[in-house]
Amino acid sequence: MTLLSVERLNKKFGGVVAANDVTFALAAGEMLAIIGPNGAGKSTTFNMVGGQLRPDTGRVVLAGQDITGQPPRQICRMGVGRTFQVAQTFLSMSVAGNVQMALIAHHGRTRDVVADAAALYRAEALALLARVGMDGEADRPIGELAYGDVKRVELAIALAAAPRLLLMDEPTAGMAPRERAALMKLTADIARGSGIGVLFTEHDMDAVFAHADRILVLVRGEVIAEGTPEQVRANPEVQRVYLGT
Ligand code: ADP
Ligand code: MG
Repeated sequence: MTLLSVERLNKKFGGVVAANDVTFALAAGEMLAIIGPNGAGKSTTFNMVGGQLRPDTGRVVLAGQDITGQPPRQICRMGVGRTFQVAQTFLSMSVAGNVQMALIAHHGRTRDVVADAAALYRAEALALLARVGMDGEADRPIGELAYGDVKRVELAIALAAAPRLLLMDEPTAGMAPRERAALMKLTADIARGSGIGVLFTEHDMDAVFAHADRILVLVRGEVIAEGTPEQVRANPEVQRVYLGT
């Protein structure tokens, strides 16, 4: 089933063509990587899907519904989640507390119930933390965790919004190679296990080729190749333009 259909998206910034007829589809449970050099238009494409940027032309269709140009809040409500960095202000809050905050926001609870946030959605938060292997750290302040573990909690926070599609723009930035591979594998397992579609960018080609089901190669706003890791690796234009071999 097609979860996300991106149809001929165009976006210019002044004279810079950031997206030129960008077209692709993503199925439920699929891990689709967008790779390309700096400035290729990866973030621009993400932001047009997530609603942070409005395309000049083209359509974004989620599960058959046109969501082009909708505000991010609305797109989020329709099932498009993003990973965000844990806010500085929440670093002293517990790991579970951070996930509970996300659940409270997702369920649209109001301030008055946030007063007893300690208990609210605690069980749900622990279940989400178990999915990312962090339930053992539930009561530690998030600020005490190793960087790679914070990234896992950020994934649990994104899952709290029950997304059908997860957008991850450079989720492993700043991580050590081993942590990076572990986070990618965890994300892939969750995507396949629960049918969430994942659109991600990643600089680490080893992680991309190991965990993406399909790869889209962007260069100067244009899709120059698309396919399985094997197909993309074998594509002469990709080798010439991007992989530098
Ligand atoms: P990537 O994420 O692949 O590195 P971006 O999507 O961030 O690439 O950028 C694509 C191109 O669009 C670049 O040339 C960048 O400088 C330009 N660009 C991106 N966002 C803006 C903006 N808000 N204003 C002006 N130019 C932008
Ligand atoms: Mg970017």
